[in-house]
Amino acid sequence: TFMTNVFHDLRTPLFVLQGCLARVREQPGCLGEELPVMQGRLEFMRRLVEDMFLMAKLEDRQVIFDTDRVPLAALVQRVAEGGEVQASQKQVSLTWQVRQDCTAWGDEARLEQAVQNLVSNAVYYTRPGGRVTVTLERRQSRGAILVEDTGIGIPPEEQRRIFERYYTVSGKHKHHSSGLGLSIAQEIVHQHGGEIQLESTPGQGSTFTVLLPITEK
Ligand code: ADP
Repeated sequence: TFMTNVFHDLRTPLFVLQGCLARVREQPGCLGEELPVMQGRLEFMRRLVEDMFLMAKLEDRQVIFDTDRVPLAALVQRVAEGGEVQASQKQVSLTWQVRQDCTAWGDEARLEQAVQNLVSNAVYYTRPGGRVTVTLERRQSRGAILVEDTGIGIPPEEQRRIFERYYTVSGKHKHHSSGLGLSIAQEIVHQHGGEIQLESTPGQGSTFTVLLPITEK
C-alpha cells in the first residue's frame, strides 16, 4: 500500500507537469501562467522524495544525530514562533508556555523537526477560531512537550495507525503533504530514547505528548 501511494503521488504531478509543458510548447505565451503550477508540483515532489529518503535512512539507522545539549524551552519557543504564520493565516490561536525548563540530549535540529511536524498538524487539523497550545513541563526524569489542539480529533480505532508510514485517516489527507510527518517525528523521538503519546477525542481535539529523557534535574 505504501508503494502504491508513493507511485500515485509521484505520478499525478508528473502528468500535470507533462500537460503544462505540452501547452507551453504549443503556445509559448502561456508560460507565465503555467510556471506557478509547475513550480508547485515540483515542490511537492521534492518534499515527498525528501521525506521518503529521510524515513528510509531513519529506518536503516543511517541518520547520524548530533549529540549535544538541547535546551527544550528555546526549542518550544522557536517551533511555536515558526508556526505563527500558518496559524494566523488560518485564524487559529497558537500559544506556548514553559512550566519547567529542561535539557534533553541529542540532535536539536531533528528534535525541532519532530515537534514542528506535530505543531503544523495541530494547526492544520484545527478549524478557524480554534486553539493550539504548546507546553513544556518536567515529568520525573523526562521532559514533556505537549501539543494540544481543539481540532477535529482522531477516532480511537485510528489512533495507533496514524503513526504508520503513509497512513491517513480517510478523506483527511493534507493537501500537498507526504503523509510521513508523524512517522518521521516518531522515529526521531524513538531514536532519542523517547516516545510520543496521543490522547484524542473526535470533535474535541488531540494532545500529542513528546517525552524525552533529560540530562539534569
Ligand atoms: P499527513 O498529515 O500528511 O496526512 P501525518 O503523518 O502528519 O500525515 O499524519 C497522519 C494522519 O494523522 C493525518 O492524515 C491525520 O488524519 C491524522 N492527524 C495527525 N495529526 C492530527 C491532529 N492534530 N488532529 C487530527 N488528526 C491528525
